[in-house]
Order: sequence, then structure tokens, then C-alpha cells
Amino acid sequence: MNTAKSQELFNQAQKSIPGGVNSPVRAFKAVGGNPLFIKSAKGAYMYDQDDNRYIDMINSWGPMILGHAFPAIGEAVAEAVKSSLSFGAPTAKEVTIAELIVDMMPSVEKVRMVNSGTEACMSAIRLARGYTNREKIIKFEGCYHGHGDSFLIAAGSGAITMGEPNSPGVTKGVALDTLTAPFNDLEAVKTLTDANQGNVAAIIIEPVAGNMGAVLPNQGFLEGLRQLCDKEGIVLIFDEVMTGFRLARGGAQELFNIKPDLTTLGKIIGGGMPVGAYGGKKELMDFVSPVGPVYQAGTLSGNPVAMAAGLTMLQYLNENPLVYKEVEDTAIKMVAGMQQNVESLGLPYTINHIGSMFSIFFTDQKVTDFETAKSCDTALFGKYFQAMLQKGVYLAPSQFETLFVSNVLSDEDIAHFIKANGEALKEITS
Ligand SMILES: *Cc1c(COP(=O)(O)O)cnc(C)c1O
Repeated sequence: MNTAKSQELFNQAQKSIPGGVNSPVRAFKAVGGNPLFIKSAKGAYMYDQDDNRYIDMINSWGPMILGHAFPAIGEAVAEAVKSSLSFGAPTAKEVTIAELIVDMMPSVEKVRMVNSGTEACMSAIRLARGYTNREKIIKFEGCYHGHGDSFLIAAGSGAITMGEPNSPGVTKGVALDTLTAPFNDLEAVKTLTDANQGNVAAIIIEPVAGNMGAVLPNQGFLEGLRQLCDKEGIVLIFDEVMTGFRLARGGAQELFNIKPDLTTLGKIIGGGMPVGAYGGKKELMDFVSPVGPVYQAGTLSGNPVAMAAGLTMLQYLNENPLVYKEVEDTAIKMVAGMQQNVESLGLPYTINHIGSMFSIFFTDQKVTDFETAKSCDTALFGKYFQAMLQKGVYLAPSQFETLFVSNVLSDEDIAHFIKANGEALKEITS
């Protein structure tokens, strides 16, 4: 495969951009080789600068659930652009999207738009602290909530991949206020809340973890957190930046039928534009400025062009619930094919799957938390990634990521993926 133009651009990029990329995991450091520079994408496919075609299994890390360049979203953006890119004043679309989010997400009664998932999580934590007048938060090892200081404490995703669980630049003071527990370990959480009685403002969790690969909550785990938070007056925050509008119309909270106090959103909510949001119970959200004392603001928050994209995406999902069956059916077929490949090659690997999210883990252990995720052979994953790329399949460039299925994968694409998976596994293990 000729990737000369990407190589050239990467050499050039490294001179003016740290590591040549604007977000670390794009650098392919965890899988070896250099990143591909993408020129365009349409439907299920991405094209690099050398015009190689790939079946896209990341979909911009989630947002492209309807495939790339979905016509209605492009048209809504083109229309919005004609009326100026930004006003810094309220618009009708912000009201419509807020009402739609409230309608779609079971626990959300009021919602504030921001510009990224990171911003949503940072703001939700500040609100929980302000509301409870407490300082500590509990997060789970391997969960990622963006790059806010409070979360870069044994953080996941990029930070795992970079082999730097604690980032320099995060102060000791901040680190002291973040407590961490293993995912799926309710007893560990209870130990933390007992030891910090009256001091825990919030528990923040990815209800389905996606940033250590796909890791599902054990039966009763999320319910247990809900009960504990009720008992201790702790704000339960579901970080649904990844799962929101993906696992169901109303995200993981709809799927598991558990209502958090606050929800953070991102990715799909912007239809590919930089959008995040946080929302929840009225009494909590009314603690945010200008009605409440907790300050949070944004020059470009609720940007009209971004809202046009997000609103069109959410309206489509709201009106076409069949999308969720389509993406799940596709994922079921892909996972079944992979499982068959793994078994016929006599390999011990673990595949985790829920809805349109799945991961293959290069370990013989069941993966239920960060500890077991870390048992994976990441060097082998790197080889697998490269082999899949050669076969025209673009995976997330790290073992600790989830794949996201869009609803535009054809039966041929599914067959292509399964065949590539079988061949790649054979090549890297023989
Ligand atoms: C992607 C992600 C974030 C961060 O969102 P950004 O838009 O990248 O800042 C936060 N939480 C979860 C669960 C995510 O997957």
C-alpha cells in the first residue's frame, strides 16, 4: 500500500504541531507506524491522501453513527452557514435541541451546551461540588472523562496508551480530591465513601466503559452505585459522551433503566461538530449561572452551525429508532464472525460487545475492569492493527479503545471485515 503522501505530511506536521497531531491517540504510538492523513470520507469509507480506501470502524470516535457525510447534516450546516457562523446571543435552534435532548435522555430535565466532552465533564464536576458543598470525587480506573485535571489521575485512553497514567502538570492538590476505584467493584466504592464520609461530591462513571476497550457493567453494579449515591447524598454522574444516543435513543441510562443525577454528552450530539452538553435534574441544573451560583460559560457554546449539525443528527435518531437495531445487528454479525475466527484458530482472546460497540482483547482473561484489560498483549494488538490496515480496515489505533459501528456498513463490508480479521489473526499468531 502506498502511503507516501501521508508520510510526507506527517514529517512536515511534526515540525509545527506537537507529535504531528492535535490529539495524542491519532499518532499511532500504541500500534507503531505513522498516522494516515485523511482526505475525505463518505458513508462507511475513509480515503487517505494517497486515495487508499478503508472501512471506517471508528467513525470519528463515535459521532458518525449514520456514516460519513450524511446528506441531511451537510445540508443543515450549509444552510446555517449562510446566516453567519456565530452571534454570541441565544438562538431558536438552542431551544429546539435542548427540548429534544430532554425528551430523548430519560434523566435530563435541563441541559447546558458546551464545546466538547471534556468541557461537559469538567463542568458537571464543578456543579456537583458547588451543589453539595463537598470537594472529593470518585472515578473508576480505566474510565476516561476528557483531559480535565481532576480526571488525569490514573486516567484512561490516551494516557494509558502514552504509558503516562498521571500527567505532569496536574497539581498534587487536585490529585488529592480524586479517588479511584476499580470498575465493577462496588465494595471498593463503599470503602472510599466510608473513609470520606460527607466529603464525596460526585461519582462519575462511563456506564459502559469504552476507553479501556468496551467493558460492560456487571449485573447490579450501576444499581448499587445509584443506591449508594442516594444514601450518601452523592451526585451520580453518567458520562455518556460515548454511549449517549449510541446504545439507545436515550443512551445507557435508557438501556439499563437507571437515572443518574447528571449526564455528560458529546460525540454523537454534535453530528461531527465540536459539541458537548451536561444536563440533569432541574434543581441541580438551576444551580448553574446565571440562575445559580456555579459559574460556567462559553463564547461559542450553542454555536448555530454546530447546533444545526447536532439537531439534524438527533432529530434523525429520534425519528428513526430502527437505526439502533441496524447498528446492533451489524455488530452482532461482525462479533459472531470474529468469534468464529478466534475459535477456529484456537486462540484464547476475549471479545466484549454491547449494541454497536465492541472490542477484541488480546488476553485469555475475561475483561471486566482496567486490571484485566491491562493483561492484553498490546504489541500483538499493534501487529493486528497494521495487518487490518493493510487489508483496508481502519481500527482504533490502540488496544484500549472500542470500535463503533455505523448503520451504512453493507453485507459486503461486514464480510470484508470478518475475512480481514481472520487473515490478520492468522498472520500475527503463526
Ligand atoms: C471522548 C470522551 C470524552 C471527552 O470528550 P472530548 O470531546 O474528546 O473532550 C469524555 N468522556 C468519554 C466517555 C469519552 O468517550
